[in-house]
Amino acid sequence: MMNWLDSHCHINDEAFRDDLDQVLDRMVENDVKKAMIISSYIEDFESGLNISHPEIEFKRSLGIYPGDVNDVDEALFERYASLYEDDRCQAIGEIGLDYHWDKDNKERQKEIFERQLKIAERLGKPVIIHSRDAIQDTYDLMKKYKNEGVMHCYSDSAEMAVEFVKLGYYISISGTVTWKNAKEPLRVIRSVPLERLLIETDCPYLTPSPNRGKRNEPSYVVYTGRKICEELGLNEEDFRKQLNENYHRLFRL
Ligand SMILES: [Zn+2]
Repeated sequence: MMNWLDSHCHINDEAFRDDLDQVLDRMVENDVKKAMIISSYIEDFESGLNISHPEIEFKRSLGIYPGDVNDVDEALFERYASLYEDDRCQAIGEIGLDYHWDKDNKERQKEIFERQLKIAERLGKPVIIHSRDAIQDTYDLMKKYKNEGVMHCYSDSAEMAVEFVKLGYYISISGTVTWKNAKEPLRVIRSVPLERLLIETDCPYLTPSPNRGKRNEPSYVVYTGRKICEELGLNEEDFRKQLNENYHRLFRL
């Protein structure tokens, strides 16, 4: 049996401080055996290096989150940049643009995003992209560089998803596809080739049904995976195999 995987989780978040061992055990019980741990802060990246379980393969990513660019000076930027070269940092992200929370510093967001895209291109490492209410600017910057990567927690139109696939990107679907009001995410999964789809929890956020309202965790990624199988009429085992292939191709494992 092929395992499930979580292509984007924050299990180094303080939300998991008290019961991480049980969270990891539930991953194994639910056959979620691979996960990409995302860090926005250097201390989280470093503490994330200690997370391990004999039956789970963890990979790690670090990136300056668009909501934090006002707090990043040159010295701090250089510390991130040197960690991007570290072999334990398999991907750069989440990076991108977020105009939902912050509209007053668009130029600074773009500058920090673009500099990180450039480093990723030079290092040949995949990028993990966060974009909220900023899809056109995100696309325009990404188009300037020859990166591969994933649109994490993709929440824009099916038409734009197809454009990102043409750029060489993967589209990662979160638990929102299981929510009752999900319309566009269902169009997205029908528009993107299966070889370009990934799934994620983005935990502790965006908990899928039927657990909506609770803290999210990697084992819940199976709800998202099963919903996609149901909608697309896919055999679950075939879909798991496809997800594993996509994950390995994207993150060069
Ligand atoms: Zn995230």
